[in-house]
Amino acid sequence: MSTEETRTRIVWDYAPAPESPDHVRLRDSYGLFIGGEFRDPLDGRRIHTINPATEEPIAEVAFAGEADLRAAIEAARVAQPRWAALSGLERGKYLFRVARLIQERARELAIVESMDGGKPVRESRDVDIPLAAAHFFHYAGWADKLSYGVGGRDVAPLGVAAQIVPWNFPLLMAAWKLAPALACGNAAVLKPAETTPLTALLLAEIFQEAELPPGVVGIVPGDGATGAALVRQPDIDKVAFTGSTVVGKDIQAALAGRGIPLTLELGGKSANVVFEDAALDQAVEGIVNGIFFNQGHVCCAGSRLLIQESVADAVTGKLWARMGRLRVGDPLDKNTDVGAINSRDQLERIEQLVSAGEEEGAMRRTVACELPARGYWFAPTLFTEVAPAHRIAVEEIFGPVVSVMTFRTQAEAIAKANASPYGLAAGIWTDKGAKAFEVASALQAGVVWQNTYNQFDPSAAFGGYKESGFGREGGPAGLRPYLRIS
Ligand code: NAP
Ligand code: MG
Repeated sequence: MSTEETRTRIVWDYAPAPESPDHVRLRDSYGLFIGGEFRDPLDGRRIHTINPATEEPIAEVAFAGEADLRAAIEAARVAQPRWAALSGLERGKYLFRVARLIQERARELAIVESMDGGKPVRESRDVDIPLAAAHFFHYAGWADKLSYGVGGRDVAPLGVAAQIVPWNFPLLMAAWKLAPALACGNAAVLKPAETTPLTALLLAEIFQEAELPPGVVGIVPGDGATGAALVRQPDIDKVAFTGSTVVGKDIQAALAGRGIPLTLELGGKSANVVFEDAALDQAVEGIVNGIFFNQGHVCCAGSRLLIQESVADAVTGKLWARMGRLRVGDPLDKNTDVGAINSRDQLERIEQLVSAGEEEGAMRRTVACELPARGYWFAPTLFTEVAPAHRIAVEEIFGPVVSVMTFRTQAEAIAKANASPYGLAAGIWTDKGAKAFEVASALQAGVVWQNTYNQFDPSAAFGGYKESGFGREGGPAGLRPYLRIS
């Protein structure tokens, strides 16, 4: 065997590199955050939030009932006029303070995010938490420049915003909702997702530490019924929702005729389009990031991989080889690439859609890896020979599963990418700038990434078309949904 061969055959073992949760200061039990303090529920109940990697309980959390929601909205209603009457500069100072406190407690927040939701700590540490702080910094900067953000028009806050976020980026989605709402002078009542309430409750502690005026933010954990009750409260002025399309439609129906402005950030089945002139190795890294980041629990995941026929075998071969090197397991291990599936329900949904893919005739390959005995896990999976009508090509799987289809011409790539009820994001991989611009402008997607994927920045607007929703979050565009503009 030549030296060259020996070298390439060496397999490096990783030693365990677990992040220690020792310094995390979690309480045994959390109340509802209403009027600036943690309160026992009036008519709610208490549940245990669990760690999906171990199925062990982490802490007890109060869920809000009807009377609790009314109390949170009432507290917000009382606080809002005084909050709006502060100068933008003053409101901005509070937001700066919140951003800095998120940074100070970043390590703790990252660990709790990974314990409660199952995502690799490398991602919570490097993506979720820094971006959450960045969102508060960004909107702190807008608080005294609101009119400039909307073309010099006169602006006023809407009042009390009801906000609902999902479990895939719990703290980050809370930051996306709260930072612009507060910058614009609104108060907010936010419902975190049933399976991941903890970082929103730590954020409530941060609001206390920042001495945010009581009532400006309420945090009311709960389940789907709590969310449904929240948007049906009579005394709200705005609803902002991130979650599935089916719930988004239900909320839209509930608000019909009430004159309450609504923003919806919903699901997606985003196309990642690889042309034959792309840098293929770079594209493979982008494909992996696009679909295996956060176990594929990403609304804009590049779950439909469209590859030009001439390079399809080469790309899927490289992708499959790369997938074999992904490390699946303990979310708190700093070397982990793919963590735990967020909940048993979500795992079942992934398994069901993957079975449908096999039954409908697509070819499935799942990485062989040892999965922990307890917890919810799904190994990275690749489907080839996928037809556009297969369920795995149409429905959002929201897991570490990529469906590969091919195309011959640019026109066919555009047609296939757009053949979806969703329109959230897309990726284009090509060496030709002109082609990238031409294809990007023909794609019906809120965000199009070129030769990269899953890049987020608080200054860039994010949002969808078609059944992926409406309204934008991020940047000056993200101010509009929280302002009355005249
Ligand atoms: P979901 O079931 O729609 O839940 C989202 C949030 O709404 C959760 O807090 C949920 O509470 C609550 N909820 C459930 N039923 C409700 C109802 N009838 N009325 C009001 N609120 C209700 O979605 P998910 O499964 O948690 O999240 C995954 C979905 O979110 C995916 O489709 C994904 O694409 C989408 N998503 C979109 C974006 C984006 O920016 N476009 C970002 C992230 C995720 P419970 O958790 O207690 O059920
Ligand atoms: Mg949990």
